[in-house]
Amino acid sequence: MCIGCDQCTIVCDDDAIELYDTPLASPIMEIDVNRKARVLREPCTGCKLCVLACPTDAIIMIDR
Ligand code: SF4
Ligand code: SF4
Repeated sequence: MCIGCDQCTIVCDDDAIELYDTPLASPIMEIDVNRKARVLREPCTGCKLCVLACPTDAIIMIDR
């Protein structure tokens, strides 16, 4: 699960990851910002640095 920690965007040399804000799924909690990471297909070179950097294993590699 992505916790919006920003580690993947820091290691990505190709600006292929962006963080966006999304509403929290739980109705019993409130937080100001719920950030998630999104990998952009075109600029991604498949270097895998983000996969290695993510503390929650939220990124997986797929064939394309
Ligand atoms: S995908 Fe992983 S490294 Fe990137 S913001 Fe989410 S939790 Fe952090
Ligand atoms: S695999 Fe893609 S998104 Fe991940 S660090 Fe490399 S270029 Fe960036």
